[in-house]
Amino acid sequence: MSAFVIDAFEFCRNSGHREGTTPVAEMTRLAADCVDKSGEIRWSIDGGLTKQGYPSMTLAVAGPVKLVCQRCLTPMEYEIDSSTVLVLGKDDEDADGIEEVLDDESIDVIVGSRECDIRQLLEDEALLALPQAPKHEVCPDTKLLDTLKTEKVSPFAALKNLKPE
Ligand SMILES: [Zn+2]
Repeated sequence: MSAFVIDAFEFCRNSGHREGTTPVAEMTRLAADCVDKSGEIRWSIDGGLTKQGYPSMTLAVAGPVKLVCQRCLTPMEYEIDSSTVLVLGKDDEDADGIEEVLDDESIDVIVGSRECDIRQLLEDEALLALPQAPKHEVCPDTKLLDTLKTEKVSPFAALKNLKPE
């Protein structure tokens, strides 16, 4: 069994703890949403019980990824920093029941697994943490690009002007 596959119920009952660092390149779904595969995601998972006694896992992910700014369309660094609590039900019915008892939309109830691949959970968490429309706070200077776009100068002519005399 892979080191990343856990019995989620045992893990919660034993107040389990795992942490590590995973390269973005190994999170293929996350990497597909990024400009490149640079960066690493630091993560941790803590098992425990909710105050009502349901098994729960706290997932945390943090680290820089490169996204495309939706305003200037150049790469931008975005710092993922997110944590979430997942409560485990034994099956769909149990999960629905727990959701009603908790009555808290900020808490996700999932059907727990005795062969739970935590890499999938962590990658889901990282994907959910990405902004819908990432934007630089202040976009880098794109004046040169704008000049090339607005003036009817061929990019080659513009390049010639950049050459030393
Ligand atoms: Zn920008």
